[in-house]
Amino acid sequence: MSQQVASLMYLAAGALFILSLRWLTHPATARRGVLAAEIGMLVAVVGTLLKGEIVSYEWILVAIFAGCALGVPMALFMPMTAMPQRIALSHAFGALAAALVGTAEYYLRAPGIDRFTMVALGMEVLLGFLTFTGSLMAFGKLQGLLPDRPAVYPGQNVVNLSILGAAVIIAAALVGDPARTSMFPALVVLSLLFGVLFVIRIGGADMPTVISLLNSYAGLSGAAMGFVLDNKVLIIAGALDGSSGFLLSIIMCRAMNRSFANVLFGGFGQEQAAGGVEQRPVRSVTPEEAVEILDTARLVVIVPGYGMAAAQAQHKVRELADLLAKRGAEVKFAIHPVAGRMPGHMNVLLADANVPYDQLYDLEKINPEMPQADVALVIGANDVVNPAARHDRTSPIYGMPILDVDRARCVMVIKRSMRSGFAGIDNELFYLDKTLLLFGDAREVSGSLVDELAKLPAAAA
Ligand code: NDP
Repeated sequence: MSQQVASLMYLAAGALFILSLRWLTHPATARRGVLAAEIGMLVAVVGTLLKGEIVSYEWILVAIFAGCALGVPMALFMPMTAMPQRIALSHAFGALAAALVGTAEYYLRAPGIDRFTMVALGMEVLLGFLTFTGSLMAFGKLQGLLPDRPAVYPGQNVVNLSILGAAVIIAAALVGDPARTSMFPALVVLSLLFGVLFVIRIGGADMPTVISLLNSYAGLSGAAMGFVLDNKVLIIAGALDGSSGFLLSIIMCRAMNRSFANVLFGGFGQEQAAGGVEQRPVRSVTPEEAVEILDTARLVVIVPGYGMAAAQAQHKVRELADLLAKRGAEVKFAIHPVAGRMPGHMNVLLADANVPYDQLYDLEKINPEMPQADVALVIGANDVVNPAARHDRTSPIYGMPILDVDRARCVMVIKRSMRSGFAGIDNELFYLDKTLLLFGDAREVSGSLVDELAKLPAAAA
């Protein structure tokens, strides 16, 4: 009976996961998507606990407490700007769990494991352990605990592929004869080592893409665990996780006009320091001066970027947009697919500030309107508005689709200094005659613009 109830609950959980992915595709339904996934996971866990095969509820309770002790502080105290690191840590823990379950299953069932299960178990352990160390490396790079430059040396690809090849050969040997227990530790060590070596050669700027790829490995490892344990909900969730992580990596590469191979084997970020920032004159203005121009604008396109997230300026930016709209301007938000540090970063922040979804425009939709914009107001964005991506073949971001703010009548940029963005390169946009720089923290400057606009006499009806 409990087996049938569990199966029904797994079915419900699987349906909720699929619905969740569907709802996560649009900002308007994203919260519902997260809720559906949470309920789905709860249903799956409860369904599993109802199964008669559970040996010890005490250990499960210990695991729940340990998980909460780690997960709750991570959710509460890690800021939105640290989201990529947080995700990397979650993948590391998830993958470690899958790999440890695989290890335990192997030693419990070793000589008698059938071939199919051993294939799944080999995949689970290999992907699980390499995702564990790879994700920890990604976390270290993004958190600044490790140098974020790619560590490259001659023959690196050969060394890496040899280690991976050796791990695969050992896994195949174990499939051939699962009784070769002495080989299993070598599979574990090689997988752990490959995870480290795979990620050290990738620069910090590509880490979010790598995290997304590791996400897909963790998912596949989970799906393989589903086959080992004969657990359907693990197979469904792991397959969804694996395929969506893989698709996301591809979408991110496309948005940056990079090939997968280039991300994994190129050295993006290597030349970061060499790019340097030029000492050329720029035009800087005060919020009072900026407001005079903004007040006469009929179409204002706001371009948020990583700096808006870092400053947590989204609420002030929404206030600013509301005030401009009240004064007769049409306000549109231009969202670049890789603005910020994770896919959907700007959508999440603007949704948090209750910016209406119909004011959000994708790159393809807003670019044709840029020449009609009186002001393009760039708030903490840099690489995603760098015109070099269109014409400078030597630029590391050459070919990345950008928001064409330089085609607006006037460009205002809020940033704290002339420092570069994630790609570490100078931005010719800042030196154009039509560009006005508002130096300062995005939240403070947006707040000053709001205050100055509020001081103006009411707009004529
Ligand atoms: P950038 O990283 O290019 O630039 C951010 C700018 O914000 C900096 O120039 C910085 O200048 C400014 N800034 C930082 N803090 C503040 C603050 N408190 N107040 C005001 N300004 C601030 O950001 P973009 O969003 O334009 O581009 C994102 C980059 O990340 C791209 O290179 C993209 O390829 C990369 N990336 C994004 C991924 C994603 O999924 N979103 C994934 C992979 C990579 P200053 O220090 O002078 O203030």
